[in-house]
Amino acid sequence: MVQQYDVTIVGAGPAGLSAGIFVARQKTPYLIISKDLGGQMNLIPKLENYPGTIMSSGSLLAKTLESQYLAFGGEITYDIVENIDETEEGFKIKTVRTEYFSKAIILAPGKVPNNLGLANESMFANRGIHYCTKCDAPFYQGRSTAVVGVGGYLVEAGILLSRMAAKVYLIYKGGKLGGDQDMITSLEKKENVELVPHSNIKAINGSNTLQEIIVEDSLGHQRTIPVAALFIEMGFKINLDFVKHLVKLNQKG
Ligand SMILES: Cc1cc2nc3c(=O)[nH]c(=O)nc-3n(C[C@H](O)[C@H](O)[C@H](O)COP(=O)(O)OP(=O)(O)OC[C@H]3O[C@@H](n4cnc5c(N)ncnc54)[C@H](O)[C@@H]3O)c2cc1C
Repeated sequence: MVQQYDVTIVGAGPAGLSAGIFVARQKTPYLIISKDLGGQMNLIPKLENYPGTIMSSGSLLAKTLESQYLAFGGEITYDIVENIDETEEGFKIKTVRTEYFSKAIILAPGKVPNNLGLANESMFANRGIHYCTKCDAPFYQGRSTAVVGVGGYLVEAGILLSRMAAKVYLIYKGGKLGGDQDMITSLEKKENVELVPHSNIKAINGSNTLQEIIVEDSLGHQRTIPVAALFIEMGFKINLDFVKHLVKLNQKG
């Protein structure tokens, strides 16, 4: 028999778990379905900006949120939602393993940052390679850094880094920066920012942590730049294929 719930939450990252804690206290039949516990929180070795907790890690916070959810009798199943269809009385949820029926659904499937696609990139994740400048720039006060990316993400990250890093190399494929013109003008005035247009990252090197990046311009000239960190601001992938027939999506998801 198909299991029935009043509320089903897709995703057990901070958004899904927070929703779960609220719903669990309402004493209504509910369920969280998620691929994993914690989502992107598992990629945070040192979490400094979550109010109420100091120097925790993301996975520790995930465990804490899970315990709070389970304390109210919350139920989690680890599975992948493949499709959701609307029925007269609610929604039919098809997962890899089974099917559920739910009167309401809360979607919290998060997003995944785009990477550069370099072979050794994951080896340096959180050891100099970072995908969230807002989150991790403060760890590089007074150091030499680089940021590679697209559009407004890149400009915003460059301004943020320029406030704390000794040097910021801003690397981008085209000849013009994208995004808000006032922000671009402000960035261009920063003395510790060097613009590196028409370029991409060819390789990243280091031992235990990142030590240098190799940048290639459109003419094929290569340059080695010593940096303690490379921030990758290439946007995000949001996978909402399983509801694209129910919800109006834009280009970003
Ligand atoms: C490297 C890195 C470092 C970061 N550092 C910080 C930091 O220091 N401070 C900070 O505030 N933020 C940080 N962030 C951002 C923060 O992690 C995210 O903003 C936050 O995790 C988003 O929460 P979420 O619940 O919306 O999504 P997610 O954390 O992405 O969780 C989504 C959940 O949905 C599940 N899911 C997705 N699709 C399906 C499906 N079809 N079926 C079932 N389950 C599904 C996933 O498995 C996951 O459990 C960082 C992010 C990254 C990538």
